[in-house]
Amino acid sequence: MYTPVFIDDLPDVSSISNRKSELYRLTRARALADLLLDETANWQERACPGCGQDRSQSGNFSQAMVPFHRCSHCNTIYAARVPDQARLEALRTRLLAEAGNTETSAAAGSRREFEFVSILNWIRLTEARTATSAGGLLPHVLDYRFCSESPAWPGAVERLGKNRDWRFMPLDAKAAAGNFADLRDQLQANPPEAVLLNTEMDRVADPAGLLRVIRANAPRGTLVFVATSCADGLEYEILGADSPSFVPLDRLNIFSVKGFETLARELGYEPLEISTPGRLDAVILQRYFTEIENADVPFWSGFFREADKDRLRDLQILLQRSLRSGVMRFVLKT
Ligand SMILES: [Zn+2]
Repeated sequence: MYTPVFIDDLPDVSSISNRKSELYRLTRARALADLLLDETANWQERACPGCGQDRSQSGNFSQAMVPFHRCSHCNTIYAARVPDQARLEALRTRLLAEAGNTETSAAAGSRREFEFVSILNWIRLTEARTATSAGGLLPHVLDYRFCSESPAWPGAVERLGKNRDWRFMPLDAKAAAGNFADLRDQLQANPPEAVLLNTEMDRVADPAGLLRVIRANAPRGTLVFVATSCADGLEYEILGADSPSFVPLDRLNIFSVKGFETLARELGYEPLEISTPGRLDAVILQRYFTEIENADVPFWSGFFREADKDRLRDLQILLQRSLRSGVMRFVLKT
């Protein structure tokens, strides 16, 4: 299996924009609380969504409104209870509508340009690696729901990704019946060569169900590009539930490399490529330890308070090389 490393300049701490604002976190927490109080919502208890280990054998990760566990076998972090998928989709659709389309502003769009270019390069490089004389090119790509979480994405593809045909499937109240029927119908009607699931795997109640629908309805040999948070990342390892990236409603599943690989193989996928291309672990941790003066973690608090930019960059490269960054990418073949 191929495990590429992505080395580039680290962004300046002051330019990082991915830390969720306090308002965003509170809105998400309130929505989750409302759902818990709603007696008509159907909550399911579950085992580890990665390796399937029973919950009784894992430790608590957080006792926030919904308890989260960290699997002692594969290291995946997951909500012990999840609402049914249809309910979750209705809630997400409402939150997106309330948030408005603020991200389409030019400033927000250009702020995320790096991420968009990185996704397009990922697909291009994988295509180049997997292409054979028998085919393997990816002229049609189906984006499932990243366009809803990130409204500036389709515009970026229009500008930068002209060499292929993209189809966007937003989170849609009408289409979402809770069992990924919209995706099933689309795959049957217009089979693509590749499917992109960017940040979606973290947010669904039934990640195995989503992968099953793709494998059952896409032609054999279809490539599935999956980008998710990574529980093996240094940020989660050091800060745990205090990690600025941990917003429970957006992170019902935080897979580990081992957990997601186990799930994918279990469902019949062949993983072709794994990487953890995150760029921000080191700078996020440095900001955390410099902003919170009384935070004291042996070794790390001193390391981050004293580290200069070169030292942070060296650490980030090490994290990428050792599959320990907070973002991971898989390329799976159906
Ligand atoms: Zn597990």
